[in-house]
Amino acid sequence: MYISEFKSPGMEKRICLECGEALHGRADQKFCSDACRTAYHNRTHADRETIIRKINSILRRNRNILMRLNPTGKVKVSREKLIREGFNFSYHTNTYRTKNGNTYYYCYDQGYLPLADGIYFLVRRQEYVDQD
Ligand SMILES: [Zn+2]
Repeated sequence: MYISEFKSPGMEKRICLECGEALHGRADQKFCSDACRTAYHNRTHADRETIIRKINSILRRNRNILMRLNPTGKVKVSREKLIREGFNFSYHTNTYRTKNGNTYYYCYDQGYLPLADGIYFLVRRQEYVDQD
C-alpha cells in the first residue's frame, strides 16, 4: 500500500542553528545548548560589526578624497580622477536636494554635485552639523 509522506510545515526536522544537532525540545527551540546560543549570537554580532566597520571606512576614505581634492571648498574634478583616488560612489551619508532640483551627495561634511560629462562639483558644508 502506498502511503504518501505528508509533512506539515511544523513537522520538519529542526536543527540547532549553530551546530546542526537535531532538536527535540519546544517548537520554538533554536539551539541545543546555551553554549551554542552564545556562540551563534557572538558570531552574528561580529559579522554585523564587520559590515559596519567596512562601510565606515569606505565613507571615511570618500570624505578624505573629497577633502584632499577640494582644498578651496569649491572645485571641479572628473569622475576618472575620483575613481583613480579610490572613491566609491555607492556610499554617501546623506543627500541634499536644492530648489532647482540638483542633488548634492555628502560624505559627512564633504559633498559633490554630478554635473554633465562626468564632471563633479565638489563642495564643503560647514554648517552641516547644524542642520536636521
Ligand atoms: Zn548546538
